[in-house]
Amino acid sequence: MSEDETLIRKIIHCDADCFFAALEMRDDPSLVGRPIAVGGSADRRGVISTCNYQARVFGVGSAMATATAKRLCPELILLPHRFEVYKQASQQIRDIFYQYSDEVEPLSLDEAFIDVTAADACRGSATLIAEEIRQRVFDEVGITVSAGVAPNKFLAKVGSDWNKPNGLFVITPPEVEDFVKQLPVTKIYGVGKVTAEKMHRLGIYNCGDLRDLNVYQLSERFGSFGLRLHQLSHGIDHRPVKTSSRRKSLSVEHTYSLDLPSIEDCLQQLPELFQQLLERLGKLEGYGVNKQFVKIKFNNFQSTTIECIAQGAPRISVCRELFRQAFTRGNGLPVRLLGLGVRFKTESMQSIQLPLFP
Ligand SMILES: [Mg+2]
Repeated sequence: MSEDETLIRKIIHCDADCFFAALEMRDDPSLVGRPIAVGGSADRRGVISTCNYQARVFGVGSAMATATAKRLCPELILLPHRFEVYKQASQQIRDIFYQYSDEVEPLSLDEAFIDVTAADACRGSATLIAEEIRQRVFDEVGITVSAGVAPNKFLAKVGSDWNKPNGLFVITPPEVEDFVKQLPVTKIYGVGKVTAEKMHRLGIYNCGDLRDLNVYQLSERFGSFGLRLHQLSHGIDHRPVKTSSRRKSLSVEHTYSLDLPSIEDCLQQLPELFQQLLERLGKLEGYGVNKQFVKIKFNNFQSTTIECIAQGAPRISVCRELFRQAFTRGNGLPVRLLGLGVRFKTESMQSIQLPLFP
């Protein structure tokens, strides 16, 4: 997306709720309702990465020494990290984001900005897209995400935190002015404890108070952060969603309103899906296809994915064959959703094939 300052963007910020802890509860439901935390053990001077809301009630929080957490909450259940599980869930969530836009900027395993200004899903409604993403992550990954929808990154991020957990908060362009005026300065990214205290001493509690100082006065008091504070206090943030990290896959999928009972019914849908895949692929540049895959979700909500090495342009015959194999895994169950996609070569594989000076 360009840095055109007149463009009104539609940005979604998605953030999973206590991500690691949520995945632990998903995989072991006996943990639900009990205070849990993921982190290093106390006797090895470990630190808490994530805890669930039951643990937060006791004052346990991220980056806290595990020994302290145990003291605050003696019945805290401490679990070791399972990074493979977290990474896999993270990839699944990102794949869902990419279904709506190519402009995705991941901030961490469970957090990303998505620019949906040009998206045509949900008739272009960013709010509906955010709701659909939240629902799909819940259905397909089994955890909840909160989302903020706003005309810029600053407010989208504030929004995802506003109704957390499992919440959605939308700030439309006409609402920006009133919303920002009452926004506490502590909600501004970059305003930590020290800066907040300094502001409070100056009688500045919300963005409305910040506006009483002009940009020079702000720069005098807060140095290089002054200009940024001036802009943010007016709800202005021109930073584009940065899609520098290369995507690993591209896929399209469709949930059918009537289940598809046979493989023939599924294959009938294939040309349309395949066409969509080619269209999406045509908009990307500089990516080499390495694998093709298909996904089937049966009407018992179990899903299965099959992939194979397939370089060059995707072929419909490969999809057909993969669908046949995937369908047999359902033992005759009707199909609810079909998806197909490609995985791209990694950069290291790619660099071998790209000329130095194209
Ligand atoms: Mg999170």
